[in-house]
Amino acid sequence: MTEREKGRRRLVLAGIPVSEGIAMGQAYRYDNRELEVRRERFGAGEEEEKLEALRRALCRAGEELAGLAEAPGPDGREQGDIFRAQMGILEDEGLLLPMEALVREERLEPEAAVEKVFGEAAGRLAGAEDPLVAARSADIRDVEKRLIRICQGREERTLSGLEKGVILVAKDLLPSDTAALDRTHVQGIITQAGGSSSHSAILARSFGIPAVAGVAAALERIPHGALVALDAEKGEVIVEPLEEEIGIYRRRQGALSERRRREERYLARPGATRDGAAVGMGINVSSCQWDVPNDYYDFVGLLRTELLYMENSAPPSEEEQFQAYRRALLRAGGKSVTLRTLDIGGDKTLPYMPLPKEENPFLGSRGLRLCLERPELFLTQLRAALRASAYGHMELLFPMVGSMEDIRLAKSYVREAMGQLDRRRLSYDAHIRLGIMVEVPSMALAADLAAAEVDFAGIGTNDLTQYVCAADRTNPKAAAYYQSYSPAMLRLLEGVFAAFGEQNRPVCVCGEMAGSPRGAVLLTGLGARRLSMSPGCLAGVKAALAKVTLEEAKALAARCRQLRTQGEILEYLGM
Ligand code: PEP
Ligand code: MG
Repeated sequence: MTEREKGRRRLVLAGIPVSEGIAMGQAYRYDNRELEVRRERFGAGEEEEKLEALRRALCRAGEELAGLAEAPGPDGREQGDIFRAQMGILEDEGLLLPMEALVREERLEPEAAVEKVFGEAAGRLAGAEDPLVAARSADIRDVEKRLIRICQGREERTLSGLEKGVILVAKDLLPSDTAALDRTHVQGIITQAGGSSSHSAILARSFGIPAVAGVAAALERIPHGALVALDAEKGEVIVEPLEEEIGIYRRRQGALSERRRREERYLARPGATRDGAAVGMGINVSSCQWDVPNDYYDFVGLLRTELLYMENSAPPSEEEQFQAYRRALLRAGGKSVTLRTLDIGGDKTLPYMPLPKEENPFLGSRGLRLCLERPELFLTQLRAALRASAYGHMELLFPMVGSMEDIRLAKSYVREAMGQLDRRRLSYDAHIRLGIMVEVPSMALAADLAAAEVDFAGIGTNDLTQYVCAADRTNPKAAAYYQSYSPAMLRLLEGVFAAFGEQNRPVCVCGEMAGSPRGAVLLTGLGARRLSMSPGCLAGVKAALAKVTLEEAKALAARCRQLRTQGEILEYLGM
C-alpha cells in the first residue's frame, strides 16, 4: 500500500450508468439539497446574540452578492444587474423589520425568521401576471437560500468557474445547473437521484461527460476533494482507488478512446445498414447553436426549447425567440429543424413561473397542457417559431400530447398565431408541418387516429417508458421498473411505426433508445427509419447499423418480440 493509500478511505459505490465513459478526478461536492431549517425556538436571554448573527448573515450575503455583481459572467452586465437588485432586497425594511421582530419577540432562529418572512414575500409576488414582478419573487427566493445557507455556516459552491478535471457530485442536476456548468472542466458526474432518462442524464450525454446516477447518499459518502474513479459502463464509483485500480481505469480509458476513434470513421457517412437501407440520422439539441459538423447528420430531429426559457430571469420575448430560432435554421444550413414547443412541468421548472404544487407533476400540468393553460406563453412561442420558419425548413412538434382534443387544440393555436402574424403582415411558412410527440400511451395506442391528424410524429421513448411502466424516470428506486426494452414497449413501438407508416406519415424516434447502438438496430428492425439522438451517439449508432443488413435487423427484432422479459431481451441484444 502506498503512502497516499494509507491515510485515505477506499469506498466502492454502485449506481446506474447514464452517460458512457470512464473518468477520474477530484470530487467537487455541489450541495444543492434543500436546506433543512431549524424551526425550534431558542432559549430566553439569547435574543441579542441571535440578532447579531442575523445582522452578520445579512452583511456576509451583501459581500457575496457584491462580489458576484463585479465578477465577469458569460453575460456580465445582466448578471451584475441581477445581483445588484438582490443586494437591494437585503436592505428592504419591509423584510428586515419583521425578521428582527420574529427573532426578538418570538425567539425564532435567524434562519427560520428568514424563511418565514422571505417565503411569504416571495409567495405573494409569485402569482403576479406581470413577469417582471414574478421574477422578483425568484430573486427573493434566491436571497432567502443564500441567507439560510450563511446562517447555517455553509460555504457557497457554484458550478461556474470549476477547477480543471473535477468529478461533480450532486443530489441531482437541474437543467438550469447544467446550463451554468463549465463543461470543459468536468470529467464526470455522479448524482444521487436520476435514472437513465432524467434530464441531467440527457444533458450529460449531450455534453459527452461520463455520468453515473442513483448513487445512494453520494454527497454524504464522497468527501470534497477525494480522488474518484467513475466507471459509467458498469455504474461503479471508486472513492480513493488503489494504485492498481487507477492503472486498470487508465487502460480502460485508453481502450474506450480507441473504440471511439474506430467509430469516428463512420461519422461523415450516411446512416445505413450494411446492405444500404437508409436510416435518417437526426440530432437532438437543447440550444439554437451546436458545434456538430453538418455532414454528420441529416436533420435536427429534436430542438428542445426549454433551455432558452431557463437561462434568463424572465421569459424570452417573441423577438428574442425569433432571433434564436432563425439562428438555428441558418446553422442547420437547409436541413430540417424540428422545434419542440415548451415542455415545462414534471421535473423542469422555470424560476420566474412558479407552478402550483401538484402531487404528481409528471401526470399533471406539463408540456402542451401547461401551454394550453397559458395561451399567451404558447402563442408567443408559436409566433416566434412561425416567423423564423420563413428562413429555412422548420417543423413544429408538440410534447406531452395525450388526446385527440390536444392535437386539435394545438393546431388551432397555430392557426391563431398565423392570423396574428397576418395582421402584422409578417411572413412565415404557411405549410409548416405539424407533429406530435408520441410519449403518452394513449397516443401510442391510438396511433392510427393520431396519424390522420398530423404530418409526422416523434417517439419520445423516455417518457413513453415512464408512462407505460408507471416508473418515474427520475427516481432511482423505480429504475428496475423503468423498462424501455420490455415486451410491452416493443409491441407499442412496432404498432406506432406500422400505423404511421400505413398513412405515409414519417416517424422519428428521438428518445434515448435511439442513441444506443443496439437499441438503434432493434428499432430499425421494428420499423424505424429515422432516429434522432445526442450528437455524441452518432458515431456508435452509425457503426452499429453498418454492421447488419436490414434483414438481420428485422430478424433480431422478430426474435426479441418472442422473448418474454426485458432481461431476456437485453441479454439477447448483448446489453
Ligand atoms: C422523450 O420523452 O423521450 C423525449 C425525447 O423528450 P424529453 O426527454 O425531453 O422529455
Ligand atoms: Mg418527453
